[in-house]
Amino acid sequence: MPRTDAVLALPRLAEAERALGRALVRSAVVAAQERARAGEIHPEQVAEQAVAALPETAASLRPVVNATGVVIHTNLGRAPLSAAALAALAAAGRATDVEFDLETGRRAARGRGALAALAEAVPAAGAVHVVNNNAAALLLAALTLAPGKEIVLSRGEMVEIGDGFRLPELLASTGARLREIGTTNRTSLRDYTEALGPETGFVLKVHPSNFRITGFTSTVEVAELAGLGVPLVVDIGSGLLAPHPSLPGEPDATSTLRAGADLVTASGDKLLGGPQAGLLLGDAGLVERLRRHPAARALRVDKLTFAALEATLRGPRPPVARALAVRPEELRARAERLAAQVGQAEAVECTAAVGGGGAPGVELPSVAVSVPESWAGRLRTGRPPVVGRVERGRCLLDLRTVDPEDDELLLVAMRRCSS
Ligand SMILES: *Cc1c(COP(=O)(O)O)cnc(C)c1O
Repeated sequence: MPRTDAVLALPRLAEAERALGRALVRSAVVAAQERARAGEIHPEQVAEQAVAALPETAASLRPVVNATGVVIHTNLGRAPLSAAALAALAAAGRATDVEFDLETGRRAARGRGALAALAEAVPAAGAVHVVNNNAAALLLAALTLAPGKEIVLSRGEMVEIGDGFRLPELLASTGARLREIGTTNRTSLRDYTEALGPETGFVLKVHPSNFRITGFTSTVEVAELAGLGVPLVVDIGSGLLAPHPSLPGEPDATSTLRAGADLVTASGDKLLGGPQAGLLLGDAGLVERLRRHPAARALRVDKLTFAALEATLRGPRPPVARALAVRPEELRARAERLAAQVGQAEAVECTAAVGGGGAPGVELPSVAVSVPESWAGRLRTGRPPVVGRVERGRCLLDLRTVDPEDDELLLVAMRRCSS
């Protein structure tokens, strides 16, 4: 059995140690030695096996190929960042001028670049602010605008987002009281006006992003709720800044503000295609009150978030936007090319989804490489892991959510299963 020190001294492992640290490389070597002792590999293969088992980075999060057809997959980290955002992250991770003006040598406002980019993208907003996520944005709005007061909310919009996160419980945790109005399927303008009074902190309208109520329903539009004399806060969910041509029912910040909302809250890592963040856009006076609330400090974002957000807003179209825009013919050509090179694979039409609670019910026509269901587990545990979806006894690798640059990775992964 080769000695641990001797293996660690080999050039490839010494190089890995500089990138990953000694502990991670050492444990890969020890694991390979154990496999050799168990007779699974030859002792001469220890170094090679250790190198093959090394993690890509010193963090345990592993990049995966999202072939699920769910554009914003919460379990896979929601929006993948653009190359521009990744480059901005790497640069911002060093010492940076996040709160420093290099011209004057004085202190400068944190996040000024990202906030300016957001304000430019939504001219309808008087001011903007960014916090940790949309839940934090709602928390800050409730803390600032409704301490000890009521938040008026339709029963049809009392939403659970996922993983047990219930928006009404978050709001109630601030000490504000929820004034539930209307019924699950119908809420009228009169329900709102009758609930308003000196106790009202604000009216909240929430985009029921992950479900639809159909049939005998009615809701009150933003334009009708504007001008009731109390602040109107609208949680649009997905973070579209302007209307999206292929998602007509999905609310966006610009239209919502133009319709009269005083404050809009949204996520940065859903349809906006950026990092996790909570966007607050709206009336300059209200936004200023939020920024000055003591809790704002506890909800503020890191320089990394500001960097990735600014690059998402100013840089090239992020992967989420590309995945929504790609034409099915293009997907079909890619699927046919891939399927032709692997036994038991075929190109099939399928339906992709927006995901992340966005645009429920919207079906995106897509094309997948269909492979045997038994490959699903091996694809998932390969390197890199490929995550597809199992449908009617086949594993579908939906190309709408796969970056064309990753097609070769997909091919290698499928070939490994077919051989
Ligand atoms: C996703 C979502 C949230 C929560 O957003 P996070 O950024 O995950 O905190 C809140 N409201 C709506 C309508 C959502 O869709």
